[in-house]
Amino acid sequence: MNQPSVKQHVLIVEDEPKLSEVLSAYLAQSNFEPHIIDNGLEVIDWVTQHKPDLILLDLMLPGLSGIEICKKLRAFSDVPIIMVTARVEEVDRLLGLELGCDDYICKPFSPREVIARVKAILRRSHPVQPDSVTHGIALDESRNKATINGKELVLTAVEFQLLSILFYGKGKIYSREQLMNHIYADNRVVSDRTIDSHIKKLRKRIAEILPDQEIIHSVYGVGYKFEEPPLAQ
Ligand code: CA
Repeated sequence: MNQPSVKQHVLIVEDEPKLSEVLSAYLAQSNFEPHIIDNGLEVIDWVTQHKPDLILLDLMLPGLSGIEICKKLRAFSDVPIIMVTARVEEVDRLLGLELGCDDYICKPFSPREVIARVKAILRRSHPVQPDSVTHGIALDESRNKATINGKELVLTAVEFQLLSILFYGKGKIYSREQLMNHIYADNRVVSDRTIDSHIKKLRKRIAEILPDQEIIHSVYGVGYKFEEPPLAQ
């Protein structure tokens, strides 16, 4: 599994052409193979035939609603589904319906955030292979659990997400805004200091296990990045 040469197929179910085109362009740019369907009635047949790796499913659709589609899909498939809804308030109601979606995204969204979520969900459904463990750091996304050299890091959900973004983007610098966009899907306004304080706590947790090694680096005036510590002897 996880053959990097094979593109993962993402089905976009969305009846607003502008949105689906933007998503499609971003997905293609991120090396996915996107496909757009704009009518709810066409989804089940298409999925049966093409077996996509993930579905971005709009809630309000002509033909058949996202809720109905999700129920039908779950009857025969455990393909990851990210439900897209126009209203934040709707998410609580959707959660209550226990549709079996893997995640929810609210409109308006930033396409970059959607891509990040798609990648996170796909990583979760294709768990990290042992050879991608970085110098004793291992993340288990299905259980929000991180270990360093076999010792568990006790992290809050936000701290785990931050570590996960930085870890998978090894060496890349993330601005505070990018980190916020990844973490707070509802576009809520939080100050830069919120991220700083979560990072500070995350570092403290890591320091409890790796006291002399910094793996989350501040890049002055820009943001943060993850860098591998030297190999343990
Ligand atoms: Ca719609």
